Amino acid sequence: MTARPMLKGIMVHRGEGQVVLWPRALRRMYLQDHDGSLAVLLGLLAEARPRHELRAALAEHGFDVSDEQLAAVLTSLDEMGVLLDADGDDALDEATRERHQSNLRFYDLFAGLERTSASMHAAAQRSRVLLLGAGGIGTGILQSLVGLGVGQVTVVDQDRVETKNLARQFVYGLAEVGRPKVYAAQDWAKAYSAGTSVVPVHARVTDVATVLELGADADIVVCAIDSPEDIRLIVNEACFALGVPFVAGGLNYSTLSYWSVEPGRSPCWQCLALHRTAEAAALPEVLRQDAYLAPPSVNRATGPMAQLMCGLMTMEIMRYLTRSDPPVAAATYQVIEVADRLAMSSAAWQRHPDCPMCGAVR
Ligand SMILES: [Zn+2]
Repeated sequence: MTARPMLKGIMVHRGEGQVVLWPRALRRMYLQDHDGSLAVLLGLLAEARPRHELRAALAEHGFDVSDEQLAAVLTSLDEMGVLLDADGDDALDEATRERHQSNLRFYDLFAGLERTSASMHAAAQRSRVLLLGAGGIGTGILQSLVGLGVGQVTVVDQDRVETKNLARQFVYGLAEVGRPKVYAAQDWAKAYSAGTSVVPVHARVTDVATVLELGADADIVVCAIDSPEDIRLIVNEACFALGVPFVAGGLNYSTLSYWSVEPGRSPCWQCLALHRTAEAAALPEVLRQDAYLAPPSVNRATGPMAQLMCGLMTMEIMRYLTRSDPPVAAATYQVIEVADRLAMSSAAWQRHPDCPMCGAVR
């Protein structure tokens, strides 16, 4: 077991024969502690006293416990998710610990005695992301990935920076107007951190073969583009072949939405497309006809909306890369209605029996 088990930085109350632990801001755990020994042990664990000193320190407070009893209590506390390895960060060099201290403390929420926050950060450092799109969603995701210390991001986009992009694409400035976005994004990342290597690809993705080629060494694919129209089906098919998950999302009409697919483990995008086709056939006649008036194509994504979407999508990406906690959007449509007081909803979809992709891996 860990040489220095430490209580996570959580609130603890004691009294009336019990202790109350707050592993989350809104989650409390009530534990019986009639003789007060648990409170004393928690105090020692908060100080991260070496493992071999704990029994003697408890004895000084008048509590004689066996090694087995102590080990059992530590195991229970670890299973409750309130302990971590006090020396875990030592696996990282000092500059990394300094730069990424808030990232490490975030991973603490999911760490335990056997799984350190440093190991989750190291997983991010080893990761390679294929990011399709360097627009409103893609640039925000790039910024967050660089801040998190992800090792490599291949950014694919064919566009050049335009003045209208500056409302929400914050890696670009006036000086970059006219430049291909991918090179400007690469320069931003270089200036911001040496920890992430950005590989620029000035191209448009229109077929599965291109995604396969660009994503050959990727750990995850991010779809931050909405054209061509079938791009999500293209990415879906490519990710089955690559054996990696993908995260996608965007703004449509008045909603932000995102979701993810883990080929072979979650239902896929093709499944949802088949469900939607079936649902469309069941609509009333008036809705099955072409729209009488179709809305013009407009982009109404403001900076805050793009940032919100990027934050949520990047958190999902990081769940896959670090396995800190399970994905929250796997085959689950997460929706935020920006014009209705940010009403949030989420709807999971099931595997479709006729899905050619999921059928092949059954
Ligand atoms: Zn499927």
